Amino acid sequence: MLRAGETVLDNALGFDAEVTFIGTIHTPFKERGQCPRQGDAEAGPDCTITAIPELEPALAGLERFDSVEVLYWLHLARRDLLTQSPKADGAVRGTFSLRSPLRPNPIGTSRVRLIRREGTRLIVRGLDCLDGTPLIDLKPDRCSFTVQARAKGLD
Ligand code: SAM
Repeated sequence: MLRAGETVLDNALGFDAEVTFIGTIHTPFKERGQCPRQGDAEAGPDCTITAIPELEPALAGLERFDSVEVLYWLHLARRDLLTQSPKADGAVRGTFSLRSPLRPNPIGTSRVRLIRREGTRLIVRGLDCLDGTPLIDLKPDRCSFTVQARAKGLD
């Protein structure tokens, strides 16, 4: 269903990227209405990111970082909106000027607090996605890779 002023793409793009999901995110949010607009890395609930077992060696060392960037595939989002009215109030904006989940490539990112790692499971705070959302990637927080952090030997 479209809101007043919203427009859609007429399938001109063709969705051709090949992304391999590397795990699954588990959150207490079972419906979209329960998800926060953005996660809270301090006060948000504990969530679990489970990487596929074959990737456990790739997680080694991640626990050195308090803050981790998580990329995920917002799998229930429609992908054809060019303009959107997030508040359904008549105000319309371009998709790329929003952090809306509804976008041609529905990739979500959150900077989460890493509480602990248990093998392929990461316990984190700061997610805003549905339970069962596919995981695309994990990276140490980019702030750990500034010139200043490098001088401290963090990266
Ligand atoms: N933090 C990410 C970002 O900024 O890229 C996502 C922000 S987006 C505003 C978060 C919203 O996406 C949630 O409040 C929920 O309505 C919706 N959402 C969460 N998980 C989803 C999923 N798996 N598929 C579709 N929509 C989802």
